[in-house]
Amino acid sequence: MHLRKQRLLTPGPTPLYPPALHAMMAADLHHRTEEFRKVYRSCLADLKEVMGTSNDVLMFAASGTGAMDAAVSNLFSRGDKVVVCSAGKFGERWAEIAKAYGLEANVLTAPYGEVVTPGRVEAALAAEPAVKGVFVQASETSTGAMHDVRAMGQAVARTGAIFVVDAITGLGTMPLDIDGWGLDVTIGGSQKAFMIPPGLAFLSVSPKAWKMAETATLPHYYFNLKKEKKSGDAGESSWTPATAMILAMAEALRFIKQMGMAKLTENAQLLAEATRAAVRALGLELFAPGSPGSSVTAVKAPAGMDSSTIVKEFRNRFGAIIANGQGTMKGQIFRIAHLGYFDFADVFATVAALEIILNANGFSVQYGTGVAAAQQVYARAAVKPQP
Ligand SMILES: *Cc1c(COP(=O)(O)O)cnc(C)c1O
Repeated sequence: MHLRKQRLLTPGPTPLYPPALHAMMAADLHHRTEEFRKVYRSCLADLKEVMGTSNDVLMFAASGTGAMDAAVSNLFSRGDKVVVCSAGKFGERWAEIAKAYGLEANVLTAPYGEVVTPGRVEAALAAEPAVKGVFVQASETSTGAMHDVRAMGQAVARTGAIFVVDAITGLGTMPLDIDGWGLDVTIGGSQKAFMIPPGLAFLSVSPKAWKMAETATLPHYYFNLKKEKKSGDAGESSWTPATAMILAMAEALRFIKQMGMAKLTENAQLLAEATRAAVRALGLELFAPGSPGSSVTAVKAPAGMDSSTIVKEFRNRFGAIIANGQGTMKGQIFRIAHLGYFDFADVFATVAALEIILNANGFSVQYGTGVAAAQQVYARAAVKPQP
């Protein structure tokens, strides 16, 4: 009998920042008090700061999809023409939400593992000047690919459309100049790089997006951006907020501000680089080699091996939860996350465990090959010891 610690290595939920968890225990407070308003105000202000935008930032008690739903139901009208970039399960979610609300969506699809190019967005906008919105994932968590939202934003900014970016795993894993690149709506979620449990969704809203809200006619009630903006300005949320989650968020934001969003991003990028180097050294293939993002690395299972076996082995041998593929990618790929509260020691351990699992399941590798490749990245990056 060996001791196995439970480890969460998935791209949402992600490992939790312990001080944020401890902060949740102080949730015996009322949300219509000055005590709570102070926390809520600082939360919204800090979110704005770490997102690096001067746009309004609003928060809801919901998983990330709640903010995606809110963006559509508050900013559009039935029959509006929109462009949806779909390169994975989350892109498909945009298409489903657009359909549910009766938008007329031109869905630009890319095969899983690939991305929708900015050129295709530009062409779609040129072909249909009435387009009101363009939807995309900054980071497509289901495939590990990352979109060029900078170039897309520039193309969208030249039109009357707004650019709605699901950055739920983009925030904290890739540079995102929300104001400079014209990301009119940028969406985030608590259980990703923000290193706290699921339950909070937030989004930034640009002046161009607020203007669309003036003429939008889709019905909505709980997710009411205008109402939420008014409440937020008063230090409150429109409905009963998830107080424990807000306390956790305030603590996590303190940490992220202290570290700096750029550093948190660089951390994820380095861990992703080390993971890519390790799996390549082991003779495995990346699922999205063309534009790999840094939120998660998707790896193809070796020929003849089901990725579900690898996922199961991680859990049974090491108590570690890694992500399988979603939808038709299930059994084909496994995904190792880097966003939020992950460090190099996590990568070394994950790769060492992977080497054992591969060997035990008929794909023979030399122990230490992947770990050494990850160590080289650590050494090259000259990561400094922390006092
Ligand atoms: C996690 C995630 C979401 C939100 O999913 P929820 O389960 O609603 O939190 C949306 N988009 C992407 C890219 C994600 O990674």
